[in-house]
Order: sequence, then C-alpha cells, then structure tokens
Amino acid sequence: MLTFTNRTALVTGAGRGIGKAIAEALARQGVTVICVSKSADSCGATAAAIVAAGGKAKALAVDVADGAAVAKACEQILAEHPTVDILVNNAGITRDGLVFRMSEDDWSSVIETNLSSCFHWTKNLARPMTRSRWGRIVNIASVSGIMGNAGQANYSAAKAGMIGLTKALAKEFASRSITVNAVAPGFIKTDMTTDFVNNPEVAGKVLDAVPLKRFGEATEIAAMVAFLCSEEAGYITGQVFAVDGGMAM
Ligand code: NAP
Repeated sequence: MLTFTNRTALVTGAGRGIGKAIAEALARQGVTVICVSKSADSCGATAAAIVAAGGKAKALAVDVADGAAVAKACEQILAEHPTVDILVNNAGITRDGLVFRMSEDDWSSVIETNLSSCFHWTKNLARPMTRSRWGRIVNIASVSGIMGNAGQANYSAAKAGMIGLTKALAKEFASRSITVNAVAPGFIKTDMTTDFVNNPEVAGKVLDAVPLKRFGEATEIAAMVAFLCSEEAGYITGQVFAVDGGMAM
C-alpha cells in the first residue's frame, strides 16, 4: 500500500484504456478522482465503476485541446475542491501518416490534444498546488517521443514536447515540493492499438522490437503512475520512465 493523505486527483482521458486504469488505481489508494474525457458517457462510466467499487470519483466531459474549456472546467473544479493535488495528463490521440501526406489538421489536432492540453491543465491547476506546497504532475508521453517513429511525426513531436515540458516544469515547481515526471509507455493493449494487437502478422513484427515479447497492460502503466503520485515518490522529479518491455533501452 502506498501513502496518500486526503488527496484529490484529476486524470484526463480517464474514459478508457490507460487513463481508466490510472483513475481506478488511484481510487483504490483512497484518492478522490475527477475523471475527464471527451465524451460524458465514457468518463461517467469510469466514475460510476469507481463509486460502485467503494471509491470516490466524479466525471467531467471536457475537450482537453480547447484551452478556454479547460480554464472554465478548472474554475468549476476549484470552486468545489480547494486544490487538485495530483494531475495526470493522459488524454491523447494519434493521426498517423507519412509526413508528405499529413494534413495540417492531422498535425495540429495531435499537437493540441497531446501537448497543448498539458499546458492548459497545468497552468490552471498548478497555482493552488504551489499554495499548498505539495503536488504531483505525471504526463503520459510515449516511447515514440524518445525514439521517434516513422509515420508518427506529429505524435512523436507532441510526446517529445511533453518530455521537454515535464523537465521545465520540474525545475519551475521544485521549490514548492511539486514533482513533475513523465511515463513513456511502449505498446499497450487499448483501443488505440487494437488494429495491430489483433492482427497476428502486424503484432508479430511489432513484438520483434520488444525484448519482453508481449504487449503491455494498462494496469502496468497505472502502477508506475500511482507510485509517482504517492508520498513515497517525493524525491523523484523531472524524470522519464519508460514502461515498454525494454523497447527504448
Ligand atoms: P485510448 O484507449 O484511445 O483512450 C484515450 C482517452 O483519451 C479516451 O478516454 C478519450 O476520451 C480521451 N481523449 C482523447 N481526446 C480527447 C480530448 N480532445 N479531450 C478529452 N479527452 C480526450 O488511449 P490509450 O491507449 O489509453 O492512451 C492513453 C495515453 O497513453 C495517450 O496519451 C497515448 O498517447 C499514450 N500512449 C498509449 C500507448 C498505447 O500503446 N496504448 C503507447 C504510448 C503512449 P473518450 O473516451 O471520450 O473518447
């Protein structure tokens, strides 16, 4: 059991996949979790499942790429909670394609949803964290942001940007005991990867690059995130943790 004292967390992309597993892992530790996703149905289902299991959660549908919508949501949240102690920026999308064929919209929607969203949430939620002199921010990047991936110029740039943002914020907030870290998943079984996980030929090729020779589970990312958000991880900041079956070593 990790130590969490009366903490409130906000997890973006909590409707499905990795974000849902993170929200559930934090709730099991007694954390109150605000579950954010684009659709009210998906974050609502995660919050309902947490409450049904005896945890504390609420749901909020927000488009994380929309800075004004995020600011409005944060105003509403901070009217109900004195502070959000833990922020997990997990919402993300892919719009893959070789760069010559990549549209402006494929570029900007991936940058805005994956990277600019982290700026919007941090800008609005970090100030109360600085006042309470405790905070945890975890950004869900990707091995694509460490190694680069052909066909994912937009996504690799966004995830590498998240890593730079993580390191800059770690330095900005360190004096207030707010830690900022990134987790870089490899290939994890979620809706985002269904196409190739369920295609034996493609899955075989993908797994050639994974020393542990299997896809990861969302719960394996959630376990790392829960640790980084706990009291025990208070001396870790500005780091990138690959949870990837050994891909990026
Ligand atoms: P997923 O199953 O596709 O779920 C994505 C979640 O993000 C959904 O809940 C979705 O909301 C939410 N979301 C997407 N765009 C949003 C927006 N504009 N506003 C609010 N919420 C939005 O994805 P996943 O595989 O769990 O991935 C989670 C994170 O891990 C992403 O940042 C992804 O890049 C990263 N990652 C994943 C893998 C992998 O192999 N799966 C590998 C490396 C990194 P709705 O439910 O409402 O649609």
